[in-house]
This record gives sequence, C-alpha cells and structure tokens, in this order.
Amino acid sequence: MKEIILIKMGEIVLKGLNRRQFEDKLIKNIKKTIKSLGEFTVKVAQSTIYVIPEDDFIDLDEVCDKIGKVFGIVTYSRAAMCEEKSLESVLKTAPEYLAEQLKGVKTFKVESRRSDKKFPFKSPEISRETGGAILRAFPHLKVDVHNPELTVMVEIRDFGAYVRGAAIRGAGGIPVGTGGNAAILISGGLDSPVAAWMMAKRGVRLTAIHFASPPYTSERAEQKVVKLLRKVALYAGDLTMYTVPFTEIQETIRKKCPEDYFTLIMRRLMMKISERIARDKKCSALITGESLGQVASQTINAIACTDEAANMPVFRPLIGMDKQEIIDISYKIDTYETSIEPYEDCCTVFTPKHPRTNPSLEKVIAAESEGDFEPMIETALNNLKVTYINNH
Ligand code: ATP
Ligand code: MG
Repeated sequence: MKEIILIKMGEIVLKGLNRRQFEDKLIKNIKKTIKSLGEFTVKVAQSTIYVIPEDDFIDLDEVCDKIGKVFGIVTYSRAAMCEEKSLESVLKTAPEYLAEQLKGVKTFKVESRRSDKKFPFKSPEISRETGGAILRAFPHLKVDVHNPELTVMVEIRDFGAYVRGAAIRGAGGIPVGTGGNAAILISGGLDSPVAAWMMAKRGVRLTAIHFASPPYTSERAEQKVVKLLRKVALYAGDLTMYTVPFTEIQETIRKKCPEDYFTLIMRRLMMKISERIARDKKCSALITGESLGQVASQTINAIACTDEAANMPVFRPLIGMDKQEIIDISYKIDTYETSIEPYEDCCTVFTPKHPRTNPSLEKVIAAESEGDFEPMIETALNNLKVTYINNH
C-alpha cells in the first residue's frame, strides 16, 4: 500500500496576493528538510501539499518528524493512496490501512471530501459505505457522529483517493524566509534559543551572533551555543553564526568604567556591534531573549538604555513571558537539556555587586565614554569567527 503525507497550509492561506510566494517558500522549505531522506515528489493542489515518497526505503516516521518542524504547516497526516479511484478500492483500503488505530478505539465516524466532482458517489454515500465496511471488519466498533474517538477521513481528489486517520498538529507559524532577516544575539542560556525559535516561527530567517570572552569563557561554552543552534536550525533552517571576540572590550569596561554600570555598558556595546554585523549581513532587526524584570539589566529603564545603543528594531519575543513558560517551550524544542549545561557566559564574568536597576541614560553614556571603545569594536569586527549550522 502506497503511503503519502498530506499537508494543510496555515495562515498563508489568508495572505491574498502573497499567497503564491508563501506557498512556493513553504514547498521549498519542505523539500530541503526531507532531501536527505530519499527521493520525493512534492506538489500542491487545492490548498493541500502532497509529499509522495519515490523510494521504497523511505521511513515515513522520520519524514513526519522533519515535517512537524516546518513553519507554515497547520496539520499534516499520513494517508494511504487507494489503488484505484473507485469506491471499492476505498472500502478495501480503509479497514486495512487503519486496522491498528481502529482496534484501539470503541467509536468512530467517517467523513468524506470529494473535490473531484466527477466521482460517481457523493460524500454522504462514501462515508456511509466506508463506515459499513469498517463495521463489518471490526464488529466491536460503534459509530458516533458527535464525539468519535477516531475520525476516518476519505478524500477523493484529482490525483486519487486517499484514506487517513486523525491529522497531527504542525508547527504553525509562517514559512521561514517570508518574514525578512534578523540577527539573534545568542548565549548558551535558556532564553535566547527560545527567542530565536519564536521569531523563526514568524517567518524570519536568522543569523546568529555570539559574544565570547576567552579565557574567561571556554571553547566548550561556544560549542554549547553551536549545539543549541543546531536544535534551532531544525525549525529555522540553515544559519550562520558569527562569534565576536569580546575579551578586550570587557576587560576595558572593567578597568575604565564605574562598576555599577558594567553590565549596561557591556550590553550597549553588544548592541552596537550586533547592529553593525546585522547590517553587513542584510539583517534588518536584532532579537534578544530578554524578559521584563528577569534580571537587573531587564528592567524597563535598563532596556531603554540598551535599546538606545542600536539604531534598528530590537525584537524581544519573550518580554511578557514567565520563566516557566519559556522553559516549557525549551522542552518542546529540545533545547532545555543543553541550555542547563553549566558553562560560563561572557555576561556572567565581571558582574557588578550592585547593578543599576533604575539607570539614567545620560549617566550610562557618561560612564561608557570613559573607555575608548571604537577601535576595539573595529578589531572585534575584523576578527569574527564564522560557523555554518546546517539543518540536519
Ligand atoms: P539567556 O538565557 O538567553 O542567556 P538571560 O536571561 O541569561 O538570557 P542575559 O544574560 O542578561 O539574560 O542576556 C540577555 C540577552 O542578551 C540574551 O537572551 C541574549 O539575547 C543576549 N546575550 C547574552 N549573552 C550573550 C552572548 N554571550 N552572546 C550573544 N548574546 C548574548
Ligand atoms: Mg545569559
């Protein structure tokens, strides 16, 4: 029995004139993510994407795992393609293909959709006949049209007749690549990978920027970030990470600037450097994992001081979220276990004993001007390390 995957597109159906562009991008993203698993035909008809395996060895569980991480998909389902587009073939296929699922429930119903109006039976007839065939094969079952444990779907489409069980919820969102480019400031913590995932979900293609301060931060800490980005890339697609050598700048802050302002100045310099990398790499916004009130540098006034350093939009998708809500997502996207590995981040070296929670912008700028950072920023930008992260 030939099995395929049927995919329902999400919000993109609403996008009017852009719809075609969204559809094309989604199909491209789907093809790319499953390419390593074998040969497939991927085509679209009547708002449904068909993924048809062309090699016998293809493992559809693996394919579904990949497809479940593609943004722009509301639901997807495995479906059996009936040998012929005829009612007999549907009646034979349904009880056979769904045998395991049907054995595990007590009630079911059949719903049919006939988008090929030339098919000689109407939807209610198809449902009734299929229901009858299932009842004959599994006498323990009862039909429950209001609250069935399993809904069997029969779809009569232009390309053939399909039978499937329940659809699985997709990753939602909109296809990566349709929402512009932005740079995620990524640490090894819990928050920034979640922030990256959230913006990719809104169609943003990501570039990653990581600040490292060796020897205060280790090679292992950087590898941890790479590991996190690999998880993010399963959803966000391929991305490039730029590691900024930040040691000289941080040591200068410590030497030259008042201690209370260490963190704020460091964060402002991170923004300035990130903005320059972002512009160079055609990104039009920055993304951080900040959440209001989580730490001293994430009060409204502290954020205002940080924001002022960057002349481009800064997205903080976690701003209104609680830690537990962030952790829930990190479990879902499988970054949690990596994030909690105990390595130093440059943000946690040289932290002040009494950080300012209610800073004034003038005072921060005055404190920052104690150091001559511009040449060091230039040096850092000339010494970026580039790491490519692939979506597999
Ligand atoms: P996270 O869990 O993402 O590390 P956090 O709650 O620990 O966040 P901070 O350490 O104050 O908060 O960092 C706030 C944000 O600044 C991070 O979410 C991230 O976007 C950015 N950031 C922090 N450290 C780095 C770094 N070493 N390189 C790049 N960006 C960083
Ligand atoms: Mg951190």
